[in-house]
Amino acid sequence: MSDSCLFCRIVRGEIPARIVREDDHTVAFRDIDPKAPTHVLVIPRVHVASLGEARDAELVGRVMLAAAQIAESEGLTEGGYRTVINTGADAGQTVHHLHVHLLGGRKLNWPPG
Ligand code: 5GP
Ligand code: ZN
Repeated sequence: MSDSCLFCRIVRGEIPARIVREDDHTVAFRDIDPKAPTHVLVIPRVHVASLGEARDAELVGRVMLAAAQIAESEGLTEGGYRTVINTGADAGQTVHHLHVHLLGGRKLNWPPG
């Protein structure tokens, strides 16, 4: 846990968020600035700064599988969806707590910008 990390603060309930799913290891909540009809962020409860810092394969798997479960509960399975992890400056990572973006509900362009 990090005192100042925005997403750690959401995990602790210090900052409100629209939670869509929680378990012992992960928390998922709606992005404050959604880029698609469904835009959910899935994060580990423990502070991991980025995918590059991640060492726990099981935890990374749990985060990914949580995203897939949310895609199903959001009704995205048939139409499809995208999962994105931005890592570092060139990818535009702005919050330094590992998070998977789950995007869906509209046609998504490829490649991303
Ligand atoms: P990144 O650019 O690091 O991959 O994604 C960070 C995401 O966090 C952005 O999509 C941004 O809109 C979202 N975000 C930033 N601050 C907050 C917040 O306080 N609450 C929520 N729910 N999302 C946030
Ligand atoms: Zn954190």
